[in-house]
Amino acid sequence: MKRKREIPMISEQFNDLLGNSLEESMITAEKVAHVQIGNNLEHALLVLTKCGYSVIPVLDFEYKLHGLISAAMITDAILGLERIEYEKLGELKVEEVMQTDFPIIEDTSNKEKIFRLLVDQPFLCVVDQVREFKGIITRRIILKQVNRFIHSPVEGSK
Ligand code: AMP
Repeated sequence: MKRKREIPMISEQFNDLLGNSLEESMITAEKVAHVQIGNNLEHALLVLTKCGYSVIPVLDFEYKLHGLISAAMITDAILGLERIEYEKLGELKVEEVMQTDFPIIEDTSNKEKIFRLLVDQPFLCVVDQVREFKGIITRRIILKQVNRFIHSPVEGSK
């Protein structure tokens, strides 16, 4: 019989530093730049350029999360065989181009999962049970906490 791989717990000290949940480390939805379903690629490119982020979430009118869009996805969608078909920017909608297969977080107390996923993702979208968008947890925020942990004085030392 195949043995189940044991996932090591994160250190108690590190766990304490991060608190019960990473919810406090989240950038809340109202502070996250996003585009809406139905927006065309021209609008999405404008938002991406103005906010300066490489990837942003795509939400619907009820703030439910549907995908992620980046400038690279937009360029790829308007790339013809011989030229960049700029006219497509006004024709194509974000939902035709966005990435829909990406990890999401429902439980911000699941730190092991968040840490594991952040190895490959610069940020993670947090949603509730009905996929309403709550915010993002970025690798930068977590690394800042790790950095604080590394430099925190060891108890009992001089
Ligand atoms: P950072 O950790 O600030 O470098 O952000 C990593 C990535 O998270 C960015 O490239 C964006 O894709 C996303 N991101 C961070 N903050 C925001 C924000 N306020 N609005 C939208 N996306 C964000």
